[in-house]
Amino acid sequence: MSVFDGLASGATDWLGASLGSGRDDAGTAGVAPTRGAQGASGSGGVGSSYGAQGASGSGDGASSRSARGVSGFANGASVFSGGPNDGRALQRLLDELGRLPGIGPKSAQRIAYFLLESDAEQGRRLANAILDVKRQVHFCPVCFSYATRDTCDVCADSTRDVTTICVVSEPRDVAAVERTGSYHGLYHVLGGVISPMDRIGPDQLHVRELLARLASGEVQEIILATNTDVEGEATATYLSRTIKPMGVKVTRFAVGMSVGGEVELADELSLGRAIEDRREV
Ligand SMILES: [Zn+2]
Repeated sequence: MSVFDGLASGATDWLGASLGSGRDDAGTAGVAPTRGAQGASGSGGVGSSYGAQGASGSGDGASSRSARGVSGFANGASVFSGGPNDGRALQRLLDELGRLPGIGPKSAQRIAYFLLESDAEQGRRLANAILDVKRQVHFCPVCFSYATRDTCDVCADSTRDVTTICVVSEPRDVAAVERTGSYHGLYHVLGGVISPMDRIGPDQLHVRELLARLASGEVQEIILATNTDVEGEATATYLSRTIKPMGVKVTRFAVGMSVGGEVELADELSLGRAIEDRREV
């Protein structure tokens, strides 16, 4: 079908735009070790002092700081390259933690002091884990869920039922449906929902890529599993009207998903039942 020509390459544009900034951040941090590496010559054996002094050493003079920094980069990681020693390191950590969802000032303080008082390795593991997801996790080019290899685990799994695609708005909804254990088909992540107020229409979502997947004729059913709020319903209605003429069965959550319900937050039992008891629309 010539209609779908070129969709594959276009599909990755959004990916790059969405994750680009995150990669830049990680990339910038990745460059930093050269500073530590330059200071490394002749400073072997400093490592133990870093570990012993831990966080309290961060206020020392610049020369000792860079020497200690070397030991922090023993594995080539850059997480202790750090920012300027402006005396605001703790405040910066508090600020960053406070930006995380569900973390209020008190929780931020508890976590910050925990990290401050734990050994350097603890902090390094956390920092590396954060950098690793930013560097290694990308969007699956087929379904737009998260992937760490060429495609996501679901798309790569040859035992999945390729005749059914469950359409969700966000990658985290895939995780929610997977947790139910009652769905064995494939997924397609739209990357949002239709929202005229936010100027998000079908063209801003991965709708064309979904239609392209249907062109092979292999898919027999599309389960619309967008949230049951106004925008989620509008998106489901749009997709239903678009897909049904293609001769593909289109279904929607059954009762069990409450009105206004979010897929991500639904309990596993309710969500599993809602998918099993889906109705044709
Ligand atoms: Zn995938």
